[in-house]
Amino acid sequence: MKKCRICGREGFVTLRAYRISLCKDCYISFFERQVERSIKKYNIIKEGEKILVALSGGKDSVVLASVLKSLSNTFKFNLQAVFIDLGVKDFSKRSEEICKDVCKKLGIDLHILKLADYGFTIQDVHIKKVCSVCGNARRYILNKFARENGFDVVATGHNADDIVVNFLKNWASGNKAWIEKQLPRTEGMDKIVTRIRPLFLRTGEENRLYTKIKGLPFISEKCPYSKRYKWETIIDEIEDKMPGFTQNVVRNLFTEKHEDKIEYRYCSICGEMTTSDVCQFCRNVARYGKFNHKKL
Ligand code: SF4
Ligand code: ZN
Repeated sequence: MKKCRICGREGFVTLRAYRISLCKDCYISFFERQVERSIKKYNIIKEGEKILVALSGGKDSVVLASVLKSLSNTFKFNLQAVFIDLGVKDFSKRSEEICKDVCKKLGIDLHILKLADYGFTIQDVHIKKVCSVCGNARRYILNKFARENGFDVVATGHNADDIVVNFLKNWASGNKAWIEKQLPRTEGMDKIVTRIRPLFLRTGEENRLYTKIKGLPFISEKCPYSKRYKWETIIDEIEDKMPGFTQNVVRNLFTEKHEDKIEYRYCSICGEMTTSDVCQFCRNVARYGKFNHKKL
């Protein structure tokens, strides 16, 4: 291993995309400086904002909570975290324990919410629909909780790999409006709370290294419903042959102007924002919920 480019001590990691080797300490400061730069360059956080970090227990959200905690004095924001128990067998229980442990270590207040409070859990959902129902439920519950509790912003751990995969999937199916939902900062409107993705330029591998060096716990097992899609494998292979590819694609995506705006209205059942008459979450509650909801 080459010497650390910054301090000259023995290197711990070589970052092929940047063509540098760094020791453990310098990697942590390098990584946090990169996130700080993205926050400033893309105006991701405004001074004094009250931020809710969506913690799942996975490595990306754990890294996000830790980096934001380190940067909270620089940007003078208030930080709290939330975990949503989706009722995915023992996986949800183990994820919740990890989130509690991480928040205790970092000194962040953690809120725990339950999908079961809406009358169903992910285990009640038809296997073919499980991930789309899960994603919709998480977005719905996060937005409602953040708004009702006075948060200015919801922060999620989307990384560069996720954004490139989403780009390829949506590009292949001709959907251009998706990009609104992936920008580093999507301004809120009406009942929708602003969303930020401060790790949008960091790769999954960079995040993994950060947790390893900092000794941060995260849930290493996959959700039992998760499938590894071909897009992720293709991107891993390109990145292996062309280090820096993923970040270059993301940088270029966000320098273009995006004109396709999403049109929202109010859900006729719950009043949250949606693009149709009844929001997808209310449809899922009606379909899977055990409470006495109006059937659609
Ligand atoms: Fe939800 Fe698991 Fe699907 Fe992820 S893999 S969206 S956690 S059900
Ligand atoms: Zn609704």
